[in-house]
Amino acid sequence: MRSWAFPVFLLLATLPTRHVAADVIGFDIQLNLSGFSTSQAAVFQSAAATWESYILGYKDNINNTVLTITASAAPNDGVGGVLGGAQPTTGKRLIGGRFVYAATGVMSFDSADIGSLESNGSLQNVILHEMAHVIGIGSLWSSSAVNVAGYQELYVAGSGQYTGAAALAAWKSEFNQPGATFVPVELGGGAGTANAHWNEVNGGGSNTGIVSNITGKDFKYELMTGWLNSPAFISTVTLGAFQDLGYNLRPIPEPSTWLLAMALSAVAVRHARRRMKG
Ligand SMILES: [Zn+2]
Repeated sequence: MRSWAFPVFLLLATLPTRHVAADVIGFDIQLNLSGFSTSQAAVFQSAAATWESYILGYKDNINNTVLTITASAAPNDGVGGVLGGAQPTTGKRLIGGRFVYAATGVMSFDSADIGSLESNGSLQNVILHEMAHVIGIGSLWSSSAVNVAGYQELYVAGSGQYTGAAALAAWKSEFNQPGATFVPVELGGGAGTANAHWNEVNGGGSNTGIVSNITGKDFKYELMTGWLNSPAFISTVTLGAFQDLGYNLRPIPEPSTWLLAMALSAVAVRHARRRMKG
């Protein structure tokens, strides 16, 4: 297994760091948090537990099953605008394996926004979203794009067409797109939004007209579109993309169970649309 550094690093604030170890399972997210309140830190732990509950482990026989994420809050562009960003910073892979995985990553949040995100109930959605980028959504869709060609190639930058098989199958099924040959990827929103999210109407304000037959919600509410609409839902398309990225997932729950889980995790604020980059 080899590790390497991804070419781009985000600037991190040098604030006191707290290390919290999660349960050791086949896929284990460990968090280094700085600049957050106790209640905000609890939301991070909950988000990590959510992804760990979906992702069972690695399709390649990776012996390091830990993904370490360093998250911090620091001033960025003031209230509104960019809420946060995230990316893997180092990767891991087997020589001769099929997949490149994140080994470490960073999540940064604008300290001007995080309090209001928490109070309006959308912080969990934002953290889940950014964490999914660290795990690989939009960031590890192309191994050649992160300078380690020869592994997964699920998306060509600029094409707007994600072609990973599991996410595409989910798109056809959950969103009633039987003839689709790709999952549409966002090309609007500029750098950090384009090429890294599922497609929705630019700005996130309008319905796409494409509705989940599991949750009954418009695709603009999907967690991994480029603009946050709360309460967001995690579609089988995003879960399929994790499979395409080389993870083994738990079986998808039956719709009745799924809807109950969504109802329990739903947050109170609706129509809170905020720009989300990265
Ligand atoms: Zn994003």
